[in-house]
Amino acid sequence: VVGVGIGCPGPLDLQTGTIIVTPNLAWAGYPIRDRIAARLELPAALDNDANCATYGEWWQGAGRGTRHMAGVTLGTGIGGGLICDGRLLRGASDSAGEFGHTTIDFNGRRCACGNYGCLEAYASGPNIALRAREGIEAGYESAITGMVDGDLSRITALTVSEALMAGDEYAHEIILETARLLGAGVANTVNMFNPEVVVLMGGVANAGEHLFAPLRAEVKRRAFAVAVAACRIVPGELEAPGVVGAAGVFVADVGGATLA
Ligand SMILES: [Zn+2]
Repeated sequence: VVGVGIGCPGPLDLQTGTIIVTPNLAWAGYPIRDRIAARLELPAALDNDANCATYGEWWQGAGRGTRHMAGVTLGTGIGGGLICDGRLLRGASDSAGEFGHTTIDFNGRRCACGNYGCLEAYASGPNIALRAREGIEAGYESAITGMVDGDLSRITALTVSEALMAGDEYAHEIILETARLLGAGVANTVNMFNPEVVVLMGGVANAGEHLFAPLRAEVKRRAFAVAVAACRIVPGELEAPGVVGAAGVFVADVGGATLA
């Protein structure tokens, strides 16, 4: 063992290796990199968890061998990372690639970040579940209702995907809408960064071609043909891309000196 790579939700200050704020962990202002390095007596590197997952898929997974890649993590939130010219793009204050908080509906739903109409407010796991619930409350018939014994607060994205696999029409509609929303977001990224590959990671990506086929069609409808032609849109290949990527970020950032 030559060192430690740490992937952590942000925003982070990568200069000082500090967590600025993490709504889910209550670790505001915590110097995680140096604390772990001191405790383990090893050099450590820190990056945002979505950057680490993106780096992992680029280094060892679905983005291997490319120079330009966009990574999207679909889960409780929607994260993103960008590899430009073979390097992770971090931006002026280490917050580049916030795919989930790009606006896809100008007057849309309120997002946890405070903005309105963010992609995450529609297509994260909990918000897929929320859209399904709202539809059923508004009168749509679905097998989902029986799957949660009529308690609609128990609907999760997994319930929707299980209903889809069981052939439920309404679940199919929800997944189709999710694919189109994600497709609009991916089209923006394709036009902005012209990646060779967009890798979608996380639970929602497990919906397979039910998700990917309409998502690709939406990107094709919206993005420049020349950019679409150069770009594959695929699911991730790694079991734990964030863990692999945190190690990769360590090697790229401080490992060169340590390993030499
Ligand atoms: Zn947001």
